[in-house]
Amino acid sequence: MTDHAELTPGDRVALLVPGSLTYLDAVLSLLARGVVPIPLDPRLTAYERERILTGLDPTLVVEAEDELAALAGETGLPRARPMHVTSGTTGTPKGVWSGVLDPADAVALVEEERALWGFEADDVNLVLSPLYHSAPLRFASGTALAGGRVVVPGPFEPALVTEAIERERPTTMFCVPAHLQRLFAHWDRHGWPDLTSFRLVAHAGAPCPPALKQRLIEAFPAGSTWEFYGSTEGQFTACPSEEWLERPGTVGRARPGRRLSVDPDGTIWCAVPPYARFEYYGDPEKTAAAWQGDEFTVRDVGRLDHDGYLYLDGRRHDLIISGGVNVYPLEVENALREHPGVADIAVYGVPDERWGQRVCAAVVGTATAADLDAFARERLAPPKRPKEYHHLDDLPRTLTGKVRRDQLAGTTVTTFE
Ligand code: ATP
Repeated sequence: MTDHAELTPGDRVALLVPGSLTYLDAVLSLLARGVVPIPLDPRLTAYERERILTGLDPTLVVEAEDELAALAGETGLPRARPMHVTSGTTGTPKGVWSGVLDPADAVALVEEERALWGFEADDVNLVLSPLYHSAPLRFASGTALAGGRVVVPGPFEPALVTEAIERERPTTMFCVPAHLQRLFAHWDRHGWPDLTSFRLVAHAGAPCPPALKQRLIEAFPAGSTWEFYGSTEGQFTACPSEEWLERPGTVGRARPGRRLSVDPDGTIWCAVPPYARFEYYGDPEKTAAAWQGDEFTVRDVGRLDHDGYLYLDGRRHDLIISGGVNVYPLEVENALREHPGVADIAVYGVPDERWGQRVCAAVVGTATAADLDAFARERLAPPKRPKEYHHLDDLPRTLTGKVRRDQLAGTTVTTFE
């Protein structure tokens, strides 16, 4: 393994350190030197680290905050292609090798992001999510490259975020719905900060419940709130809340330069320009399965309306097949979330001798299993009705706000037939 002073273009550096301004400096500086940063969750267990790093084969692994400073320094336009690593919600995290044609593709991707969100020198970007994830890193580096300021309050903590909003008067913020949920609960209890400095609040990463979206729209300045749908592999849509109000539930239309289609199975495909092509690092088979010509899929499922607005039904991986019927958890969750005693809900399948899989729900809130069963009978066809309910204080989520459905299976339950 090499030392940071000996790094040469093409080398790969795994970063296992918490996000900070130095972190952002180090990432941008490595890219400018032609070295590939691999941002990773510093809280990975030794077992997870081993599995991920074996596949990615880094030249150098940085685990201490003070080593970061040594990597920072030279800045300028990227000369390396960035490597992001997916969240691992559906299995082992995958290394996404973007801009596979040329390092200049990385510049084109940042430019595209900058044009879409209009990052300028007077922007102040408030970072709520870990910087090792692609969306917050793209927002922060887009702002930095436009000459703006980036504020990193530290690991997400509503009181610290509130202080940063009051002190720094941020103009932009990327968040996941779980952040909004926690911030609003905190502000309801301790008072609301002045949010008028924001011109752009974008959320993505997980479905946003309609009631939360309404609160978001009311809380922030008119015209400032957006949703987008994307993944580590690429970005698909962008949707101002005004469009969502006209078409509740949509995640918007294709971004400029993208074309969306849905195949007969409901799988979403997205055509991208050549500079947005990617590969899964070290996995040509997975790469080949993701692409058809200039279109790729991450196996999300949805529908397009006549005007090209996309509605997500869920992820192929989460599909429950019960008695031969396809059940997407999102549809069941959306129906049951309308019960006033449901604060949060996640639907998942467990193996069943008779049906193949049966539908189960983990619920946060005061609604009893009997209440929910009665409610489900009014709203959902029999195969979609949960047969089991389990009450939890909180749903297990990844830091990207996604429910860990794999951690829900096997919980104790109240059962219905
Ligand atoms: P892995 O592929 O390793 O399982 P992951 O797919 O969870 O990880 P990310 O790239 O962080 O990793 O997440 C992308 C996924 O997040 C999308 O494919 C989609 O399912 C979901 N998602 C993103 N934006 C939205 C949104 N606005 N609404 C609903 N779901 C979203």
